[in-house]
Amino acid sequence: MIRVAINGYGNLGRGAEQAIAKNEDMELVVVFTRRDPATVTTQGAPVAHVDDMPAWADKVDVCLNCGGSATDLIEQTPAAAALFNTVDSFDTHARIPEHFAAVDAAAKASGHVALISTGWDPGLFSMLRVLGEAVLPDGATTTFWGPGVSQGHSDALRRIDGVVDAKQYTRPVEATVAAVKAGDDVELTTRSMHTRECYVVAEEGADLARIEREIKEMPNYFADYDTTVNFITAEELAAEHAGIPHGGTVVRRGHTSDGVAETVNFELQLDSNPEFTGSVVAAMGRAAVRLAARGESGARTVFDVTLADLSAKTSQDLRAHYL
Ligand code: NAP
Repeated sequence: MIRVAINGYGNLGRGAEQAIAKNEDMELVVVFTRRDPATVTTQGAPVAHVDDMPAWADKVDVCLNCGGSATDLIEQTPAAAALFNTVDSFDTHARIPEHFAAVDAAAKASGHVALISTGWDPGLFSMLRVLGEAVLPDGATTTFWGPGVSQGHSDALRRIDGVVDAKQYTRPVEATVAAVKAGDDVELTTRSMHTRECYVVAEEGADLARIEREIKEMPNYFADYDTTVNFITAEELAAEHAGIPHGGTVVRRGHTSDGVAETVNFELQLDSNPEFTGSVVAAMGRAAVRLAARGESGARTVFDVTLADLSAKTSQDLRAHYL
């Protein structure tokens, strides 16, 4: 049994808990939180305060760091890697080299393996981007995101004066996706690739035209996209937009000789972004334990794990039934 800890019990922490329950070779032994443990209720695992982590050092094979990328993981992953093998889903792409260096130093010093930036993007999508380019060097890779909820854009809507609550969906432009898959000559711009759809609950009496204008003109978030704004009631938001779906497609299209084209599509359709991300993080936890068992230490990424490391099956089983 792989003894697993979860560090941070939000959407992803709960998703990882679901995933561990689906894996027969894993058991959740503890959930760490920065909150008062008495205020956090899990599906059964004990809850401990992060300050008590050192007491668990010999009782945990891998710690899944499920904090937020904005501020949590930069601190949480190096701290946890001093005590455990770890996995995180750090997704601030621009800061990955800096995060890798800090985690690498902590993990090397303690002799642990720390897998960073797992999940689906970064994570599975990154693996497919590398695989696509490796087998089709003469070509192009395109990534589309959605349909799905963007947490950051939903937060941006909620910060607008007069907005009570909101949800934002990112959608790939279907005609552009089809054109890329077919290899048609299509211009890929922010606007041609994705649209943004907003569902907004406004304060009673709020100036809806002003809110819609502020949304559509918001730089970086909405101005560069075709954005639609729908005003709905709090009841409608709760009834119809409670989920956290997401997904996307990585397309690699290349030529193997003149006029001979090959296309690789890797597509995700997720009812629950955090539950799927938690599932990837759990499998990566198994891989981290396997890497550590081989005597490795330091920071690693999804590019360093093998499929055999991720699988619960033995290598003999994989050769016999999956090759
Ligand atoms: P979240 O729900 O906001 O949770 C983040 C942290 O906030 C938790 O670890 C928890 O820490 C704290 N928290 C949660 N609920 C709380 C509450 N009711 N009161 C006070 N504190 C609470 O964030 P998330 O949706 O789990 O996402 C975590 C990260 O996953 C994101 O930042 C994103 O970077 C990453 N992610 C990556 C991928 C990928 O494909 N790579 C996909 C999806 C998400 P404590 O328990 O310590 O308080």
